[in-house]
Parts: sequence; structure tokens; C-alpha cells
Amino acid sequence: MTHTMNSLDRYAQDKLAALEASGLRREIAETGRGPGAAAVRGDASLVSFCCNDYLTLTPHPKVKRAAAAAVETYGAGAGASRLVTGSHPLYVELEAALARLKGTYAACVFGSGYLANLGIVPTFVGDGDLILADALVHSSMHAGARASHARLELFAHNDIDDCRRLLAGHRAAYGRCLIMTEGVFSMDGDRAPLAALAALGEDYDAWLMVDDAHGLGVLGGGRGSVTEAGCAGRVPLQMGTLSKAVGAYGGFLCASKPVIDLLPSRARSLIYSTGLPAAAVAAAIAAIDLIARDAALVAAPLGKARLFTALLNVAPAESAIVPLIVGAPERALAASRALEAEGFLVTAIRPPTVPENTARLRFTFTAGHRDDDIRRLARCVGEIGLAA
Ligand SMILES: *Cc1c(COP(=O)(O)O)cnc(C)c1O
Repeated sequence: MTHTMNSLDRYAQDKLAALEASGLRREIAETGRGPGAAAVRGDASLVSFCCNDYLTLTPHPKVKRAAAAAVETYGAGAGASRLVTGSHPLYVELEAALARLKGTYAACVFGSGYLANLGIVPTFVGDGDLILADALVHSSMHAGARASHARLELFAHNDIDDCRRLLAGHRAAYGRCLIMTEGVFSMDGDRAPLAALAALGEDYDAWLMVDDAHGLGVLGGGRGSVTEAGCAGRVPLQMGTLSKAVGAYGGFLCASKPVIDLLPSRARSLIYSTGLPAAAVAAAIAAIDLIARDAALVAAPLGKARLFTALLNVAPAESAIVPLIVGAPERALAASRALEAEGFLVTAIRPPTVPENTARLRFTFTAGHRDDDIRRLARCVGEIGLAA
């Protein structure tokens, strides 16, 4: 096959060269998953500390059996959007299980967490409305905010006073208002001050939306950050993903019945995207059942993360995520390579995923980790001079 470079190829090649020069080029390495927390790259078997399968439910026998049985009964794909061919009976079961776990009246499942945020935000706010978001919220919430055409203002990370200042200054000039934050911040592992944000929302008639991608299955006895913070009933929009602790795939919103009932008429990422494969839905149902029943399993990731922070003598982990910020992207890449040479998979997180000069190693802890591996990891982190 011959191919002559056209202007598109030249654009891509120049862009790649520029990214390479600043340490920001990204590539996806072929990586298999082994038993427990193992990852396989080439000939090397590594212990992965970067997977979000916090409860190691992806390989759980009950979850796998549920997925396999659903494939046998219903086949591989969903065929069309749920609005066209209708909701599979498994969807009804999953949405009921989610609402029960989160203690809300209703739930709606989307194709992924990203698609959920992309669809939820424009359903409830638009032109002439206001969104206040924590400065560190996930890219998918920004995508939702942009699609909504509402005015977006960022408040300083976890800074209640800054959020109140913005509400006092801008709220009156807009129609509806949404406050967006994460229960557990995905790249920092810290928790949002949910009780204070809920109170602000009540004071200013602003609807609080919490993306709890990293709190579900880990905090609040598995029910998530809102339960952990004692705010059940005070967060009207609880979004989450089925792709992390739940070990399957998909996203969701838990809310009141009228809020959920509006989605099929308004949320474009729900309306114009094909439903989930039955296997993913069945796997999520089985995983949520385990989360609801197994308190010891749910307590494991935070316990493991706290063993790591205790060994490093840093502040106790607030979630299953522990970042070590190193600054320059090249330093993060070098540290990641040094740990890989010791048998650990810890991906370097670089801008634009995180702010400039805050490139980091992000460690995630799961029920599948052995304490001995965490001890050896902590030793290696000390030896390469990562822990301050
Ligand atoms: C992973 C993540 C998402 C996206 O969820 P997917 O199901 O992977 O699409 C959304 N928000 C946050 C905070 C996340 O970490």
C-alpha cells in the first residue's frame, strides 16, 4: 500500500512532534489483565496500582457468571437505543437496584459515565442559566457544561467560601443554577465538602450534582460519598459510573422520579446512543448485589490505601486514590518507568488531565492487593525519592 502525506497527515505528525517535545505525547500500551491485581506487559507480570476496579469485581465468579448467562440468553449487543427498541428487563432490574443502593426514588442508566455527564447537564440547565463547578471536576462534566450553553464559573478546589462568593455575585442574574462537584476527586483522591455545598445549594436555590465515580463501592458502606458525608436526601443529582468499583460498564443518575422521567425526552446522549450490551447490565446487577451485602469487601480499598499512606508517613488516604505530585511531566514519566522496572504498574498522569506543574503518579488501591505488595511498593517509592 502506498500513501502520500497530505495536509491531514502533516497536521497530525507536527502535533505529535510538539507533544513529544514537551513530554505530553500519550500512547496506549498493550496490557493484559492477570489474576487479582496483576497486569501483563510484554513478558513482564506487574502489580497494577492504577486500575479503578476497586473491589476487583471484574473477575469475580458471580459477576462473570451473570455476564455469561446474559450473553447466552440475550446475545451480544443491544441493537438500538432504548428509546427505539425499549428497555431490556435487565435495565429495569439494574435501575431499581441502583435507586435502592443510593436511597433515591429512581435511577437512569446511560452508556457510560462520560455519556451520563454529557447528557444530564444540558437536560437541567441551558442558555441564561448558571453552572458553578469545582475547578478540578472531570472532563466529562466540562463536556456537559459546554453542551448546555449555560454560563460556567469555576470555584477554587473544595473552597466553600469561593463558591458562596460566586453565588452571591452571580446567582440573581440567572434562571436555574447547578453546582457541580465530585464526591472523591479522581486525580487527587480527596473528598468534597458535600454537607457545606448542600447547604449552599439550599440557600441559593442551586441544584447540587455530585459525580461519585470514585466513591461508589468504597465510601459510605459502598453507598458512596453522599452517604459517607451524612447528606442522604440533600443531593438532588447523584451521578456515578458502573465502570469502576462496579466492575462492569455504563453510567447512571440517581434522583427523584420527575427528574429521572425527564431524561428520555431531553438527554441526547441517552436518546441517540445504543443501549448497553445485556452482559454489562447483568454484570452490574450482580456487582451491586455484592456491594450491598459485603461490608468487609467494601472496606478493603480504603484500608489498603491507608496502609500505604501510613508506610509513607503522609496524611491518611481519604479514598482509594493516593497521588504523589512530582511537578514536571518528564519526572512523572521517569518515576513511572522506575516503578515498572521494580514490577509495579503506576501510570504517570500529566497535563491536561491535571493542572500545569502538577504531573503526578496516581496510585489506586483495590481489594485485590496483597499487603506485602503494598509494603514493597512503599519501599520502592521511598528508594526512588518520590515520597517527600
Ligand atoms: C471515570 C470518570 C467518569 C467517566 O466514567 P466512564 O464510565 O469511564 O465513562 C466520569 N467522572 C469521573 C469523575 C470519572 O473519574
